[in-house]
Amino acid sequence: MMSKTNLKSLTFNELQEWIHSTGEKPFRASQIWSWLYQKNIVEFSGMTNIARSFQTHLHDHAFIYSLSPVKTTGSSATRTQKILWQLEDGLHIESVFIPDGHRRTFCISTQAGCAMGCGFCATAAMGFQRNLHVHEMTEQVLSMQRHLGIKPTNLVLMGMGEPFLNYDNVIRALTILNNAEGTAIGHRRITISTCGIVPAIERYTRENHPYKLAISLNATTDETRSSLMPVNRKYPLNTLLRAAEAYTRQSHKRITFEYVMIRNLNDTPEDARRLMRMLRGIPCKVNLIGYNATNPDFTRSDDKRIHAFAEAIAPLSAPVTLRLSKGDDIQAACGQLATKQESATELSPSA
Ligand code: SF4
Repeated sequence: MMSKTNLKSLTFNELQEWIHSTGEKPFRASQIWSWLYQKNIVEFSGMTNIARSFQTHLHDHAFIYSLSPVKTTGSSATRTQKILWQLEDGLHIESVFIPDGHRRTFCISTQAGCAMGCGFCATAAMGFQRNLHVHEMTEQVLSMQRHLGIKPTNLVLMGMGEPFLNYDNVIRALTILNNAEGTAIGHRRITISTCGIVPAIERYTRENHPYKLAISLNATTDETRSSLMPVNRKYPLNTLLRAAEAYTRQSHKRITFEYVMIRNLNDTPEDARRLMRMLRGIPCKVNLIGYNATNPDFTRSDDKRIHAFAEAIAPLSAPVTLRLSKGDDIQAACGQLATKQESATELSPSA
């Protein structure tokens, strides 16, 4: 027996082709797309403008993948919500909703676990489990919408995993989520955050994708960065910054550098001076993020130090933003996602 087609794994063009192969009229593709991504329904019987006979055909030959939350943890202080999902093979991933004024940011995972081993990150302690499929990424957004009753204004790929190690699926998922007739999250409101996989940054630059790019930088010397982020041994700062600069030149877009501030490790006045020198000439924005304790070896820089650092790098043409760690109290902040059910014994004590 032929396996059923997973409609949520198809781009709009592929859905059109699939509809064509069934002998149905082309406009059916737009109708189904709208049911899936605008009205966000999960049953064919909910597609009320589609004839019963074609609903039956859809039911026999296709299915609508959906995720249901296993657990939602909310912060009353920041209204941030962290949602735990269980995938079909039993693995767990997390997504986070971060409200900020009119901004409603959804942060999604791109892998179950992560292989990159960043020292400040709870996901790293889970190890790598697998890449997420396209529908597992798009459905995090759709299911959050159903579950929370809100649509995102912004989307960041900063949850579990390194997006550029799941490159093809990530780009396909964003093509679907960006589609103007569906979820319609504008490309200027979508950010991919990488720890610095240089060949993937170069490919992304060559392919000229429209989404924003962020690099998790976190250090101003190779020695410190390699100790925090093993990826730096393969792609050291010089190579990484060259790739970042080439991206900005080719795309005419700023790049964002994320900088998690860890006391006495990367937050000294000397670090600020080095950062100034490193980023001079690269159109960029710097996000300074207070470290969210997930590893007892590291301590968050105090606010005074963070403000002094921000002031020291202010002469960069780039805007500097200080990010209060929203979701810190529910461990939904940057670098804190880890599914405890999966590997509680492997996680750092505070994760
Ligand atoms: S910070 Fe990102 S890339 Fe690094 S281990 Fe965590 S999830 Fe992976």
